[in-house]
Amino acid sequence: MALPVPISFEFFPPKTPEGARKLCAARAQLYAAGPQFCSVTYGAGGSTQAGTFDTVRQILAEGVAAASHISCIGATRESMRANLVALRDMGVRRLVALRGDLPSGFGLGGEFQYASDLVAFIRAESGRHFHIEVACYPEMHPQARNPQDDLRAFAAKVNAGADSAITQYFFNADAYFRFVQEARKLGIAAPIVPGIMPITNAAQLLRFSDACGAEIPRWLRLRLQSLDGGDPQTIRAFGLDVVAALSQRLIDGGAPGLHCYTLNQAGPVLALCERLGL
Ligand code: FAD
Repeated sequence: MALPVPISFEFFPPKTPEGARKLCAARAQLYAAGPQFCSVTYGAGGSTQAGTFDTVRQILAEGVAAASHISCIGATRESMRANLVALRDMGVRRLVALRGDLPSGFGLGGEFQYASDLVAFIRAESGRHFHIEVACYPEMHPQARNPQDDLRAFAAKVNAGADSAITQYFFNADAYFRFVQEARKLGIAAPIVPGIMPITNAAQLLRFSDACGAEIPRWLRLRLQSLDGGDPQTIRAFGLDVVAALSQRLIDGGAPGLHCYTLNQAGPVLALCERLGL
């Protein structure tokens, strides 16, 4: 049985040969779910560029559509042009175009301010060669002044030429539905695919969510805190229930696909796919 909507998977470039072997095994398992594409993140300020491009190359060689994330903060037009040529030569047809965040201590420098500048640059340089995904934030990007400004920033990326969007992960379906409704009112027709974060490690999720501005609802935070440090199987089973119910609600409410943040692990995402009827 196939999933009722397309699914895509996100990986990060491994740092060690052991990590690379594990990721290769995870990918092989995940391909059974028939992803529309697999994407690979791009470290702050281009710090993982070689690893990102290597992983993208491997996915393409495995016969699966690959999307490279690419971030523009701190980059020059010249370096970005070279990246686009390299990606094009590798056979990449899909990008996730981001502003990114510079690690603290780095000056801004660079010739791009926002992701919308990058999207416009990619279109000017490469025409329609790439399908361009951008990020969006149903619970607002943490640096935005207010939700309306953030929505306008999203609209600017679509108007600059983005084809579709992937959201930051969230656990509140209503935030997603409202965001989509408001985007449509602003004239944004691009598909908005929810980003899905499996719950496998309570402490890690709580820490990560605080940093990226994803809200953990009080009931969920309290449950996770009470399970933290306990039996990992119990946390995984609870996390699967929560994320499967969220995903089902999103699909039933018209989400055009699901984009899973795999954290380079196959198990939790495959369990989710099974729960959703694959
Ligand atoms: P932008 O769209 O440029 O927005 C950044 C901020 O600027 C927002 O607050 C926005 O409201 C504001 N803004 C935008 N345009 C304007 C304007 N014209 N005037 C005033 N304000 C404006 N990070 C990585 O480093 N590597 C990755 O691979 C990566 N992948 C990601 C994938 C997804 C699906 C998501 C959701 C996030 C990802 N991130 C990644 C994180 C992302 O880089 C950060 O969230 C970053 O802080 C913002 O990037 P952006 O592309 O959304 O920026």
